[in-house]
Amino acid sequence: MTKPILMALCVLAATPTFAQTQGDKQRDPAKTEAWRPVPVAVATPKDAAPSDAVVLFDGKDLSAWESEQGGKAPWAVADGAFTVVPGSKGIRTKKRFCDIQLHIEWRSPTETQGFAGQNRGNSGIFLQEIYELQVLDSYDNPTYSNGQAASIYKQAIPLVNASRAPGEWQAYDVIWKAPRFSDGGGLVAPARITVLHNGVLVQNDTIVSGKTEYIGAPSYSPHGCAPIYLQDHDSKVSFRNVWVREL
Ligand code: MG
Repeated sequence: MTKPILMALCVLAATPTFAQTQGDKQRDPAKTEAWRPVPVAVATPKDAAPSDAVVLFDGKDLSAWESEQGGKAPWAVADGAFTVVPGSKGIRTKKRFCDIQLHIEWRSPTETQGFAGQNRGNSGIFLQEIYELQVLDSYDNPTYSNGQAASIYKQAIPLVNASRAPGEWQAYDVIWKAPRFSDGGGLVAPARITVLHNGVLVQNDTIVSGKTEYIGAPSYSPHGCAPIYLQDHDSKVSFRNVWVREL
């Protein structure tokens, strides 16, 4: 082999082919990095609401709530919690919400003698005022499955029963996606709900069939953002650490 030919072959061997160059670019890790948008920083102090949350109860007063009949929320506040006053009717937030993340802690009364089924520690968290996430003492307290704690009342049975004993604090963490309606009032998309009960998944992106009904099938009527409503079902259920993040 002559010297010029040998040199030419060496240069050719050292030059990356077009295909190799493209391949290298495709393997460039920077090609799949997204730098925008930058997530907003949210502080998450231990045992407190995230910094971007709307605090609905801070342990002191019910100023974020009102009676379902209008006026001051009539439930009892003590020891950093508030408790249903049986017969006083439910309470609702003054603020209206659509899509939310909700954290709420609740405790069933220890007085269980003579109370069973739906009459033991019954309350409820109604998203947008009309869709009930059941609160019930479901610790060794049989009732219909779609009416026990963490059910979407009369619609969806929880995946498991994660209930703690009466008198123990329990938590719900809820992701609520509000139903969508067309301008004409037709249902575009049903509500969806995900619930963790004491950290355990119990409702996994469950489709809500409509307004909670005690009797008969649920259905939808168009509405906008609405308060969170807590039920007075004649049980002295307590609540604390209530906060919402609007999504
Ligand atoms: Mg209830």
